[in-house]
Amino acid sequence: MKKLDAVIIGGGPYGLGLGVLAEEIENLEVLVFEREDSLEWHPGMLLDGTTLQDAFLADLVTLLNPKSPYTYLNYLHEHDRLHAFFFFEDFEVPRKEFSSYLKWAGSQLPTLRLRHEVTDVLETGDGYTVKVQNHESGEEETYETRHVVLGTGHEPNVPEFVHSLPSHDVFHTSSYLYRKEEIKEGETVTIIGSGQSAAEIYYDLLQRKRDESFTLNWYTRSGGFFQMESAKMAQQLFSPDYIRYFRTLPVNKRKGTLDDLAKLRHGVKGSLLESIYKELYHQSIDGESLTTTIMQTTSLEDIEEKEEGYTLTLHHTEKDETFHVHSNKVILATGYKPRIPHWLERFENKIVWEDEHVFKVDDHYRIVREEESKGHLYTLTNLEYSHGSGATNLSLSPYRNATILHHMTGKEHFRIPKNSVFQTFFPKEEEL
Ligand SMILES: Cc1cc2nc3c(=O)[nH]c(=O)nc-3n(C[C@H](O)[C@H](O)[C@H](O)COP(=O)(O)OP(=O)(O)OC[C@H]3O[C@@H](n4cnc5c(N)ncnc54)[C@H](O)[C@@H]3O)c2cc1C
Repeated sequence: MKKLDAVIIGGGPYGLGLGVLAEEIENLEVLVFEREDSLEWHPGMLLDGTTLQDAFLADLVTLLNPKSPYTYLNYLHEHDRLHAFFFFEDFEVPRKEFSSYLKWAGSQLPTLRLRHEVTDVLETGDGYTVKVQNHESGEEETYETRHVVLGTGHEPNVPEFVHSLPSHDVFHTSSYLYRKEEIKEGETVTIIGSGQSAAEIYYDLLQRKRDESFTLNWYTRSGGFFQMESAKMAQQLFSPDYIRYFRTLPVNKRKGTLDDLAKLRHGVKGSLLESIYKELYHQSIDGESLTTTIMQTTSLEDIEEKEEGYTLTLHHTEKDETFHVHSNKVILATGYKPRIPHWLERFENKIVWEDEHVFKVDDHYRIVREEESKGHLYTLTNLEYSHGSGATNLSLSPYRNATILHHMTGKEHFRIPKNSVFQTFFPKEEEL
């Protein structure tokens, strides 16, 4: 069997984008394995009316190569939607359409293998043997490759104590659309968390409350229901230039910076918070009872199953008071954590670790090894500590993918922009 140059694990926007860019390099042999049978993008959260948080230009390739056939504009063109989009005049495109775009891009990509799950990766000396479960044929397949790229994305991050509870009642936002119809009149629904997903679900249920009566609670441990920083000047931190600067900082400074810049990554789009507020205002006219509780600085401590629903133990951190509320459904908007495959444990002693959970990643998105190896493990996930706040931002994905391909092939195939924003992150050498 011919040895591949790279196996890309995961056909999410990052792995798919890498596969798309790799297509432009002659004689580079890669395969993208995706375990699902479709590239539907976060399907449990494809709510009507929700949009991308970035301009459509943050697609798989445009910010690096707008001439690629895999651009969002080409998707619109191929579907006779360019004129409709022209009059739409909104850069923030519907999430549903972005999901269709990803599926379309995947269907054009000859190196994508759907329903192929990577189950193991073994080191061979000059590369890796990759075991793949083909869910279509039911067979296990084996591939030889020089390099492996981890594009396994993120998985729901839920507290330990919910693991034993029925998942049809207590569930993460990622399952919302599969569960929302199970919410019945007269029930109490509680949302935990105050990020974008929490707000989208709160708004969705709040609108439904116009016609159906149920109680809706919204608690967050944050100090308030804050807006995500979206000022143009601040957005400059989502640039290749900032990443280059961030890379020069020692690890403790990098960690500290992440806390300082939390407003760029967390919180809710201002327009959505405004819609929620207006909806609350309209629903409260004439002294109508809102049957909704919205509370800050309140963390979920425990959930106990009762005969009829659940008792939630909540702690108001500022008042240092513990209290209990009853709820029939609990929606956990508690975020995501990097999905790290189990086989990486085998490399535990060969990898350099920044701390207990975070492996060290170099400028080329390569997991740093104790000893130099011929085949590399690159990663598109777990990059916050190494590459900063923009690590999970779509707009930086083409830049990241080009950096990986340049290192993998030892050649500059794409022009990576320098000085791409107005801000300067560090004095020039002659100024020091
Ligand atoms: C609801 C939501 C909305 C978001 N909106 C935005 C936004 O507007 N702008 C923005 O910049 N970011 C956004 N993000 C953050 C981020 O851009 C997305 O999460 C994005 O999908 C990350 O891409 P990914 O490829 O790393 O991971 P994922 O999309 O999670 O894809 C990983 C893929 O790997 C596959 N996989 C995992 N393990 C294996 C295996 N062993 N074998 C084969 N396949 C495997 C999975 O099935 C999955 O398809 C959003 C996140 C969420 C949850």
